[in-house]
Formats: sequence, structure tokens, C-alpha cells
Amino acid sequence: MYSNNSRFSRPRSGSSRSSGGSASFGGTRYGGGRSNSRKGLKQNIHHSKFIKAAKPVEAEQYVPTHTFSDFNLHALLKKNIDEKGYVTPSSIQDQAIPPALEGKDIVGIANTGTGKTAAFALPMLNTMLNDKSKRAIVIAPTRELAEQIEQECRSFAKTSGLSGALLIGGAAMGPQLRDLRDRPNVVIGTPGRIKDHVERGSLNLAQFSIVVLDEVDRMLDMGFINDIRFILAETNEERQCLFFSATLDPKIQQLIGSFLRNPVTISVRTSENSDNVHQDVVFYGHSSEKLDKLHDVLITAGVEKAIIFDETKRGVEKLGMELQSRGFKVDALHGDKSQGQRAKALRRFKSNEINFLVATDVAARGIDVADITHVINYSTPNTYDDYTHRIGRAGRAGRVGYALTFVSK
Ligand code: AMP
Repeated sequence: MYSNNSRFSRPRSGSSRSSGGSASFGGTRYGGGRSNSRKGLKQNIHHSKFIKAAKPVEAEQYVPTHTFSDFNLHALLKKNIDEKGYVTPSSIQDQAIPPALEGKDIVGIANTGTGKTAAFALPMLNTMLNDKSKRAIVIAPTRELAEQIEQECRSFAKTSGLSGALLIGGAAMGPQLRDLRDRPNVVIGTPGRIKDHVERGSLNLAQFSIVVLDEVDRMLDMGFINDIRFILAETNEERQCLFFSATLDPKIQQLIGSFLRNPVTISVRTSENSDNVHQDVVFYGHSSEKLDKLHDVLITAGVEKAIIFDETKRGVEKLGMELQSRGFKVDALHGDKSQGQRAKALRRFKSNEINFLVATDVAARGIDVADITHVINYSTPNTYDDYTHRIGRAGRAGRVGYALTFVSK
């Protein structure tokens, strides 16, 4: 229940029933095969594409047409919004909340950092507060994003009595099965695990009247297209769809188009803009020199908080250990870590307990940490698209960020 003495009030790490702190990551869908299966597709990107001066763009000041109190939201939600300290709605919230509250389908073209979570969570929770028999399912590409959404929902729904379940890979099945038996109002999860539950009969999607897809573009990037098709086909025809994606290319339109009914499409300017990122390369000679070069970079003034990308889970683990032995405050984030370890690494990074995080592309997706100063590509990304995703982690919220890519001489 989203109330003080409920399972959603327990600490997030380790002991939480749903996060399955001690579970291994072995049997999951995207942590194992999917990331590595892309290795063979490495593009040969000329290093000149990694060099570009930042052209800081003034973030356009959006003038909202509503305040939160204008929205036709349940009083409890208004109280919790207030407690969270949200004063003005962001652009996507301002434009998406009113039609979503009217029950319309929404297509939001927005990425992390725009406030899109509240744009779907508030109308969704409002529906359930008005009718507690209603249920909603939220599908997100990564466990980290699913957890962030769950935390956001928990804080909006505090003391509401609404219940939730988090269905993510890498966590034990038992607690999730128990949670599902209680018929939770909100189910949040990653595609592979949701599909597993549908297939074993523990989740009946026909009972859900609201379906949220978050970061559709990333779900497709990660190879979840068939899982998404399967999940959407299982949902109730009378559902309300709230779909969000950073981009809306024809492939995405084709996937979601047939599930939408007269959707309201809202596009917002994103804060993940690589124009704000100063991009440069670091040349190294022999591979034995590479680590020392990285050491030099990390002790440079201004390198305050960095995410360091390496290619493989093993590479990330090794690099993390090496940096730790050199005295850096660092942790590693990759698919072989247990869910509890991943959540802990992220929490320590967010709270500045550590200032460096070594990660694989997949593990880093959807991470919302606003104050990263540097993105360091210790190994070059597989594709230019991956490069853009990586460097978008720096230069958020109108600040200039830095991206440094290691290139062999
Ligand atoms: P999101 O794009 O949903 O991941 O949100 C990005 C960050 O902005 C999160 O830390 C939210 O808690 C925060 N946020 C979202 N909406 C608002 C708002 N209206 N006012 C202040 N902070 C917000």
C-alpha cells in the first residue's frame, strides 16, 4: 500500500521484498545476452566525430498555463505534490495532465529530465484514487528506470491506500508473485519480466485500464519490440494509453499507432541536448598507458562527477576495482551485479558518496542524475547513437557538460 506502514514504505535497498537484493542477475533478459549480442555490430566511428565545442543553448523558459492547483486532481495528490516541493508544472506536465485526466490517449515526445514521470503518474493515480478497482501498468526499459518511477509514484500516492508491485528482472519471482496475488493497483516493470508473469498466468493484463509505456525508443533499441507487441496485445481494448518516447520515428509510430485512439501528441524541448556538451578525445598509445591516462583525467580540476563507460561487464568490473585500488571513490554498474548492489551504487552516486561510476551502456540507460559533469568513454561506443545517449548524461539542466572519448593513437 502507498501508506506509511506498507511495503512501499520499506527501505529501497536489499531488504525490500520486490527488489530482491540478493538475487542474481543471471536469468534476465537484457542484462545477459542482449547487451553483448550487439558487440558484433560495432561501427567504425572516426575520432573526429567525438570532437565538438559546446554551443551552450539557453534553455527556453516555458511559461506554464496551469498551476498544480488548477488541475482537476484529487486533494491527496495535490497535498503530496506540494510536499514534494513542486511549484510549477513542467511543459510536458502542463500539456499532458489535462487531456490525460479527461481519459484521452497521450503520446509524449519527451525524455528523462522533462518531468514526464509525473505527467503520466498523476493522471494515472488520480483515476485510481477516484475508483480503487482501477489498475494501471507501467512498462519501462530498465530496472533503474522502473525503480525511479516506483519511487515517484510512491511519493505521490503517500497515505492513499493504493498498492503497487515492481516486476523487474534480476529480482526473485516469489515476492513478485505474492505482490501480484494482492491485486495491486499499480504494476511497474520491465518488458521481459512482465511477459514472464503474463505467460505463467500470474498477471492478467485485461484487468488494466491504463497502460503506460515509458521510453519506447529505448525499449526498441534494447530489442524489446516483440515483448512490447505481446504485452500490448494482451491489454484490455478499453484501456487508456499514455506512451512516452524521446523520439518518434516511423518504427515507433508503427508499433504504437494501432494501439492508440485519437491520441493527443505533445512534444517538448529536451534538456538532454548534446549542444551543451563539450566533446573531445584523449589519445593513448599502448593499452598499458590507457589506465594512467584515465587516472590523469580523473584528477583534473573540474572533473567532479563522472560516468565512465566501458564495453563489457567484465571490463567495467575490472576498471572499477582498479580505480578503487588507486583511491578513487568509485563503483561499478553492470548486468552481473545483483539488483541490491545496482541500487546501492546508484544511490551512492546520486548522493555524492562516490563521484565516479563505471558502467556499461545498458546498465546506465535511463539513469537520472542531473549533476554529472563528465562522461568518459573509456571504450568507444558501438554506434554513434549510443554515443549520443552516453554524452546526453552530461550537460543537463542547462549546464555545460564534458565528454571525453579515449581513442587509440
Ligand atoms: P523525470 O523527467 O520525470 O525523470 O523528472 C526529472 C526530475 O525533475 C525528477 O527528479 C523529478 O522529481 C523532478 N520534477 C519533475 N517535475 C517537477 C516539477 N514540476 N517541479 C520540480 N521538480 C520536478
